[in-house]
Amino acid sequence: MRDEMKFTPHGKHLIAGNWIAGETTFTSEPAHGPAHAFSVGTPALVDQACKAAEEAFWSYGYSSRAARAEFLDAIADEIEARGPEITEIGTQETGLPEARLEGERGRTTGQLRLFAQHIAQGDYLDRRHDAAVPDRAPLPRPDLKMVQRPLGPVAVFGASNFPLAFSTAGGDTASALAAGCPVVVKGHSAHPGTSEIVAEAIHAAIARCGVHPGVFSLIQGGKRDVGTALVQHPLINAVGFTGSLAGGRALFDLCAQREAPIPFFGELGSVNPMFLLPAALAARGAQLAEGWAGSLTMGAGQFCTNPGIAVVIDGPDADAFIDAATRALEPIGAQTMLTDGIAAAYRAGRDRVAGTKGVQEVLTSMCDMRNATPYLFATTGAEWFANEALGEEVFGPLGLIIRVADMEEMRTIARSLQGQLTCTLHLDDADTEAGQSLMPILERKAGRVLANGYPTGVEVCDAMVHGGPYPASTNFGHTSVGTLAIRRFLRPVCYQNMPDALLPDDLR
Ligand code: NAP
Repeated sequence: MRDEMKFTPHGKHLIAGNWIAGETTFTSEPAHGPAHAFSVGTPALVDQACKAAEEAFWSYGYSSRAARAEFLDAIADEIEARGPEITEIGTQETGLPEARLEGERGRTTGQLRLFAQHIAQGDYLDRRHDAAVPDRAPLPRPDLKMVQRPLGPVAVFGASNFPLAFSTAGGDTASALAAGCPVVVKGHSAHPGTSEIVAEAIHAAIARCGVHPGVFSLIQGGKRDVGTALVQHPLINAVGFTGSLAGGRALFDLCAQREAPIPFFGELGSVNPMFLLPAALAARGAQLAEGWAGSLTMGAGQFCTNPGIAVVIDGPDADAFIDAATRALEPIGAQTMLTDGIAAAYRAGRDRVAGTKGVQEVLTSMCDMRNATPYLFATTGAEWFANEALGEEVFGPLGLIIRVADMEEMRTIARSLQGQLTCTLHLDDADTEAGQSLMPILERKAGRVLANGYPTGVEVCDAMVHGGPYPASTNFGHTSVGTLAIRRFLRPVCYQNMPDALLPDDLR
């Protein structure tokens, strides 16, 4: 732990080892506590950071896995050393409770250490070797070796809803640094002080490990031209992003329109439907309703895996489920949202759902300013099909129950879904056949299919997939959580008849 426990942001960008003040500043809008001035990012700073990242790649991209593992562990240590200060500025800026910030810090350092172990093991390199067959007729086969190599500098956009685990030193940064890619982060303007102190931790780890300082830069936001300049910069090779569909799509399109297009790994959103099968609904509808209410309102519903939709077969069990969900949601009071804009977007989403023909208000409440209270709506399968917009994410604690006539209509609803991060089945033994009939549909729709659980709480591990068909993500072959996330920042290279002395260390 550091001696000095008070962190006051200086508001500068970290560009390749130097703290640089901008010509203009913006003022942070914390949920509570003092506001601070932060330098506004510019395309010129993006250029400086990208050039330094490219320079750093010539050493960092060819460093040993052990050296990179040491660096990742050092970042985790430096974050832990600043733990209480990170929690303080983080709670002030985001309004999230201290316990959440502490938990997220553990997840962030755990993620860094997991990637350190993962690269040390080396499985991710996917090494392949086809030995030469010189006497093969009609043509000899050459010696062919393949390994995954890092892409070069990459860009990361900090997310508003995870100030630590999906931001400055979050999963995108950790997986890119593990792969051997220098990172240029565009900080989220909702939590610039939190970004700054985490960048300070990375800066300290760079000094401790003797890594090239260009390996990491943080450019604070403030204006849209930072993000656009970053994804368009010719030295950037890939982008990691978590945020809105509109913002993500705009940046994805810019990546595709570049002279040399690059992959944009956007995690954009999802309504995470739950399908409650008849036997489970009859046996434990009230319990499922309570569990759903907890998952739906956790963190003011500001999770990309928030289960916004529940599909039930109409009848007395559906009525009982709706009553129980209403009772469970009613006492949940107002929670502070991450930003004024996100709170306003939540209310606009609520008004859109409430104003849709055929949608019944089940639980309404009053919320204003930066607060969110739960809302519950119900509709029928027929109305769902008539109103495509009901399938759009409302970011916050809003639930929509769809009453369907039978299993056939439930499957038709499932087929109509857009790509999702998660789909959930609640089922008992007697529901197995119904579950089997849904599975082929659900696995085409989602990156993760759950049984008898709630999708919030994404485990960071080897088997996790946090992605899915568009619009859940822009790149359905990948995940932004778990060790497989490293694959986004690697590409396979084949070496034909290459003398050992010229091969990368990982192939020798
Ligand atoms: P956002 O508006 O998409 O912004 C994310 C990042 O992208 C920010 O750094 C933003 O820069 C940048 N950006 C967005 N549009 C851009 C554009 N056209 N050109 C250049 N840069 C652009 O997301 P947000 O601020 O986190 O939250 C807004 C909404 O996103 C929420 O209400 C919610 O609906 C959704 N959201 C979804 C998830 C999810 O996981 N599904 C997570 C967070 C948010 P600036 O900050 O400088 O504008």
